[in-house]
Amino acid sequence: MIEVSCEACGWVAITNQPVNDVWREHEAGCPAVGGAVRHLPDLPPLRRLLPPVNTCRHRPVRRQIAVTPAGVRKYAVMCELCGRFVG
Ligand SMILES: [Zn+2]
Ligand SMILES: [Zn+2]
Repeated sequence: MIEVSCEACGWVAITNQPVNDVWREHEAGCPAVGGAVRHLPDLPPLRRLLPPVNTCRHRPVRRQIAVTPAGVRKYAVMCELCGRFVG
């Protein structure tokens, strides 16, 4: 299900139909003066919670990120504080 909403009149639709079709239908009948304003979804919450790069004094740690089907462990160096890959 995808949510689409109109900032101009407060209309919200949760649909599993193609969003652009549902939006076009609302756009044609939007009661707001000046017409419909499509609300664009925010970035995923996880990304917004991460601090900006320049405020983090990275503390690199080696983390296991995956194990291949053959049992080989894969590691990546990432920051313990902000979760970014730093190496
Ligand atoms: Zn509207
Ligand atoms: Zn960091």
